[in-house]
Amino acid sequence: MKRRHFLKGATSVGALALGASAGLLPARARAQASTQTLITNVRVFDGKSDALTEATSVLIEGNKIKSIAPNLDAPADAARIDGGGRVLMPGLTDLHTHLVWNVGPAALLGGRPDYLAALALQEAEATLMRGYTSIRDTGGGIQGVAQAIDEGHFPGPRIQSSHAAITMTAGHGDFRNRNVMVRAFGGPTETELQRMGFVFHADGVPEMLSASRENMRQGANFLKVFVGGAVSGIYDPLDIAEYSPEEIAAAAGEAKRWNTYLAVHTYTDFATKTALEQGAMSIEHGNLMSEATMELLVQKGAWLSTQTGVFLTPLPDGFSDAQRARAKQAADGLDQMMTLAKQYGAKIALGSDMVGSPEVKIQQTSEFTARTNWFSKLEILKQTTSQNGALWAMSGPRNPYGDTPIGVIEPDAYADLLIMEGNPLEDTSVLTRPETNLSVIMKDGQIYKNTL
Ligand SMILES: [Zn+2]
Repeated sequence: MKRRHFLKGATSVGALALGASAGLLPARARAQASTQTLITNVRVFDGKSDALTEATSVLIEGNKIKSIAPNLDAPADAARIDGGGRVLMPGLTDLHTHLVWNVGPAALLGGRPDYLAALALQEAEATLMRGYTSIRDTGGGIQGVAQAIDEGHFPGPRIQSSHAAITMTAGHGDFRNRNVMVRAFGGPTETELQRMGFVFHADGVPEMLSASRENMRQGANFLKVFVGGAVSGIYDPLDIAEYSPEEIAAAAGEAKRWNTYLAVHTYTDFATKTALEQGAMSIEHGNLMSEATMELLVQKGAWLSTQTGVFLTPLPDGFSDAQRARAKQAADGLDQMMTLAKQYGAKIALGSDMVGSPEVKIQQTSEFTARTNWFSKLEILKQTTSQNGALWAMSGPRNPYGDTPIGVIEPDAYADLLIMEGNPLEDTSVLTRPETNLSVIMKDGQIYKNTL
């Protein structure tokens, strides 16, 4: 059923690309082997401009956009799509995901690695079919899944990954049973979750450096550290600061030496301020930060990587009263944070942070409606396209997709695009019904869905 989307798209436009022996070729090689694709009669939102273009054409060559202009010509053997006056926009991006977290905590802790990878591949396809052509994974061993997708074996989005999120003992990523002692007290040197790259436990500067370097050795594109309490944590209440300034600085310094950056999970003002002072460049959540800290974030040129839907959609059934109270505190902080972020002109990215079953993950698109509490439709669309694309580029030489832009419709950008029913500049909720509203999904010049 799901596989059919992939084949349908491939046969409608990329028939040449998916020849008898092409199945195992890397996606990029297949795209480059294909002819040009000419899309006509579309009104383009380019990810940056304030309005749609008049009806125009977009020419794709290989895996990149070649040109955008009315009345473009293409060779006779080029594939053609008549957009019928519909809106064309860059593929969606989500910069806070956990692609391997598709089951509850117990199933995750005891899950077989190949089972969890299989579910991740299924979720990767579902993500792409919701219109997301690039995601940033902020914790979880996903390098092998990303490799399989990049090589063209399975449909899915581009993935940048932090590999394991780094946690202190009793921090947000400490999922150990209370009776499992820490290493210093004779506990195991590594847990199953560490082996699979979900979390690395690190206490003290030397361990923080080792965990950071091990992540880079495993192919991380940036680093992610839990520096503050959490809504759903086992041992860590929301109000605590995790890690000393020296430990955070160690991770930030290591990221810098690898010419990439440190992203941190944090809610409270104190933890957020400390992380910024020590060099963190991507604040994940940040809901409870003060005006002074927002000013510091802007001064440092750091990103505010925000989520809204996860706080405004129903909480998981298993949440305790304490977790519900923390979730409310985090949700209540959104108003002030977003207001300050707009006031100070902070660089705002968009992410979803949905964790759990496919029924939960489908709420990834709730960002497009929940955000209307604070942002115009245009602002939301820029966040999920060009703004996320700018944060995506911050991993520099560690970006596995090179310096080719994403999140924009412009010459030499990756050919990652959507054609849809409805106009998201007038109603962003069209993006919450991808099955009916997305007519074309193209990633890397390859068509994964085409109902036109
Ligand atoms: Zn997260």
